[in-house]
Amino acid sequence: MKKKFLIILSVTLILFMQINAKHIEANSAIVDESTVKLRILETTDIHSYLLDYNYEKKKKTIEFGYNRVASLIVQAKKEQRNTLLFDVGDVIKGSPLAEYVASSPMFYSTDIHPAYKSMNLMGYDAATVGNHEFNFGLDFLLNTLMGADFPYTNANIYVDDRNGYEQDDIHFFQPYLLLDKMVVAEKGKMENLKVGVIGLITPITQEWDKEHFKDKLIIKNMRKTAEEIIPQMKKEGADLIIALVHAGLYSDQDYWPKSGNNVRDISKVEGIDVILYGHSHGIFPVKGEKGPKGVNHEKGLINGKPAVQAGNWGNHLGIIDLTLRKKKGKWVIADSKSTAKPIIRIIKKKKISIVSPMPQIEYILSRYQHDTLEYMNSKDLLNHLD
Ligand SMILES: [Zn+2]
Repeated sequence: MKKKFLIILSVTLILFMQINAKHIEANSAIVDESTVKLRILETTDIHSYLLDYNYEKKKKTIEFGYNRVASLIVQAKKEQRNTLLFDVGDVIKGSPLAEYVASSPMFYSTDIHPAYKSMNLMGYDAATVGNHEFNFGLDFLLNTLMGADFPYTNANIYVDDRNGYEQDDIHFFQPYLLLDKMVVAEKGKMENLKVGVIGLITPITQEWDKEHFKDKLIIKNMRKTAEEIIPQMKKEGADLIIALVHAGLYSDQDYWPKSGNNVRDISKVEGIDVILYGHSHGIFPVKGEKGPKGVNHEKGLINGKPAVQAGNWGNHLGIIDLTLRKKKGKWVIADSKSTAKPIIRIIKKKKISIVSPMPQIEYILSRYQHDTLEYMNSKDLLNHLD
C-alpha cells in the first residue's frame, strides 16, 4: 500500500514538473513576442491653404483647408492609441496667405509662420521639406522652420563644397531621425519602438530654384542616398523605417537621371518599411483602382510596402494602420492597410462635408486672414500663384 502511494506521488511530481516547465517555456515565448497596432498619419502639400477659404471665389469652401483636415487628425488619433504624425512638405508657399507672410519682414524677427502656429497644435513627430520650401530663399526657409516645434529631416540635400569629393559632403538638414516611441502593446504592456525617419526630395528642385541653390546646395539621387543611409539607421537600432518622400510615383519630367528619383524606386530600397509621399498632389490608394505593376490599391502597397499619398491643400489625411509583431526581439509588419481619407464625401453627385473646421486654427489665423485679404486687394496676386 505504502509503495503504491509512493509511486503515485512520484508520477504526480514528475507530471507537475513537466507542466511547470512547459508553463515557463510558454511564458518566455510571451516575453519575447508582442503585437502592436500603430497608426501613421500623413499630411502633405498643404501650400499654406490653412483655412477652408477659396481665395479665387472669395468664399468659404468645404473642399480643402488645413483647419478641416486637422479635425480628421484629431479623430484619427482618438481611434487608435499609438499614433505618429508626419508632414511631407510644400507648406510655406502656394496660397495668398503664404504670399502675404513672405512679403512681411516681421517673419524674420518676432513672429512664427501661421502654418507652424497651426501645425504646432496637432503634435507632429517630424516633417520633411518640399521643393516649394525653397521658393522664398534659404534665409526665409531657415527662419520659418525655427517656428516648427517638431524636427525636419532630409537626407539628399547637401552643402555644395565644390571640391569634387563625395566622401566629405555635408548634409544641409539632419539626414535622418531615430524617434523613441513608447507604444502600448495588445496585452497592455509598454514597448519602446525605435522609429527611423528619412526625408527625400526630388532633385529637380535644384533646377526649379536655381537662384537659391547655385553654389550653395546640391541634391543627390534619392535612391542612391537612401541606400547609403538606411544601413546606418539599422545599425543604430531602428526597428521600423519610414521614408518621407517629396516626389511622386513617377519621376519629374524633363529631368535626367529619372532613375532612382521616384516613389516606385524608393519602395525597392531594402530596409525602408513604410512610405509617405507627396509633391504630385495625387491620392494613394484609390478605391477600386488597379495597377500599374507593383501597385496594390486595395491594401495600399507599392512593391509590397505600405504607402500613402494625401492629396493637397488639406483635402485628405493619409492613414496607414500597421500591425507590428515582435519575434525574438525583432519587429516585423504582420499586416497593413493604407487609406487616403477625404474631408468630403460625394453622395448622389453632391459634395458633403464630413468634418467641421477646427475652431482653434480659425482663431489663431483670423488676423493673418484679414491682412491677407487686404494684401490681395492691393496686388494682382491670383495671377502668379502655384
Ligand atoms: Zn512639391
